[in-house]
Amino acid sequence: MKYEYDLFVIGAGSGGVRAARIASQAGARVVVAEEYRIGGTCVIRGCVPKKFLVYGAEFSQMIADAPGYGWTVGGASFSWPTLRDNVQSEVSRLSAIYTANLAKAGVTAFAERAELVDAHTVKLGKSGSEITAERILIATGGKPYLPEELPGVELGISSNEAFLLEKLPERVLIVGGGYVALEFANIFHGLGSKVRIVHRGDQLLRGFDHDLRAHMHIEVERGGTQLTMKATLTKLEKAGGAVSATLSTGEKVEADIVLFAIGRDPNTQGLGLEHAGVKLDEAGAVIVDEYSQSSVESIYAIGDVTNRMNLTPVAIRDGHAFADTVYNKRPTAIDHSFVPSAVFARPPIGAVGLTEADARRSYDAVDIFRTSFRPMRNMLTTNQERTLMKIVADAGTGKLLGVHIAGEDAPEMVQLAAVAVKAGITKKQWDSTMALHPTAAEELVLLREKVQSAGSPA
Ligand SMILES: Cc1cc2nc3c(=O)[nH]c(=O)nc-3n(C[C@H](O)[C@H](O)[C@H](O)COP(=O)(O)OP(=O)(O)OC[C@H]3O[C@@H](n4cnc5c(N)ncnc54)[C@H](O)[C@@H]3O)c2cc1C
Repeated sequence: MKYEYDLFVIGAGSGGVRAARIASQAGARVVVAEEYRIGGTCVIRGCVPKKFLVYGAEFSQMIADAPGYGWTVGGASFSWPTLRDNVQSEVSRLSAIYTANLAKAGVTAFAERAELVDAHTVKLGKSGSEITAERILIATGGKPYLPEELPGVELGISSNEAFLLEKLPERVLIVGGGYVALEFANIFHGLGSKVRIVHRGDQLLRGFDHDLRAHMHIEVERGGTQLTMKATLTKLEKAGGAVSATLSTGEKVEADIVLFAIGRDPNTQGLGLEHAGVKLDEAGAVIVDEYSQSSVESIYAIGDVTNRMNLTPVAIRDGHAFADTVYNKRPTAIDHSFVPSAVFARPPIGAVGLTEADARRSYDAVDIFRTSFRPMRNMLTTNQERTLMKIVADAGTGKLLGVHIAGEDAPEMVQLAAVAVKAGITKKQWDSTMALHPTAAEELVLLREKVQSAGSPA
């Protein structure tokens, strides 16, 4: 045989594991290398541990709401080490399942870093041995971006470290206004920390619908997180056991933890891609076609390292489609349209499809349906949190283009709304669905009146 293996997968995260398993089950000889822990970002330090921490954080609101429902909750207290360690045990259990599934599928796994030597050769970090394969799949994901030029940057942490903190910080300063920033604000605030967000933009959550962004600004502040917009950090310094951050406004802020959540970079540095001539874009992501093939015939890339849509289900779909295309002889182009996404903030967000601004750019006329209300669940409590629901439709055909929700259970609602939006149904068909009473979701099928857009859909 010309090559030792048919496929070498670099990175055992969501995408790499799926691709390796499906390729191996199709009869390919597959090897995978993982430099950290099998499972990747989502399982080890992303979606999964994050969601557990969000669940943990929710109890404080339930305790605050309980008296309205007649409950007296005395002596409630929270133990960070208990939650942290329980989450880590679950993460280890899941990682072990991923490892076992790879073995069951007949995939050889190396627990070490791998780098490219050429278009068919990979070098393993620890042993230094070189392995040849007919094809190489880059599935190395992304890593947190840190502002290396900032004086004292080493005093801050990224989401990677946030899961493993020794103790719960009393004061948390979060830099950034995207979904990771908001989710950790929700987690720390819910667990009892005092949280402040510093963001260079004038609005949170770039890329989301403008009404949702405005709603979240109000709700995050109402919830008790301090927002400082249009500001950056100019330096970090030690202040006893804490950190002192100087803002671009000149203000000094002391915090026990400074968490950078200002984006992620594709993991291509030091991978040796230049030895094979693989083309990258200006962000450092591997450029691929709709079959995930790079500029080099034998090299493919999937998931976050391609920076197309950085979500776990997308990486998994990418990996599966690659394996089907190459090893199951079923060419499968990936469809990245109408992918739902969530932000597990307070309130949580679920969104699918076009924002109002996107829709206005692409369609002659659009219809907007919107409602905002205080959900029934809050009525017996002092909880003032409001829900926002918005539907965007093509005025010409009536087709649904987007559904955007901020409110309790929004991600759960939007997973199902995504079925309708993806199927291309019209607002009329959507409206013909009977309401399910009493739910918050029923408001979605009862939205009849078109509204004028509020604010500027930037
Ligand atoms: C805090 C946080 C929360 C998130 N929450 C969500 C969420 O709620 N929902 C959602 O859909 N997505 C979420 N994501 C995004 C999601 O985790 C990623 O989209 C997903 O993990 C991408 O999968 P991947 O296979 O491309 O890469 P990854 O899962 O990142 O896997 C890449 C793997 O490659 C390994 N690796 C890198 N370089 C090498 C090398 N040279 N040699 C060997 N191994 C290497 C890495 O160690 C890693 O294990 C979250 C991300 C973060 C950071």
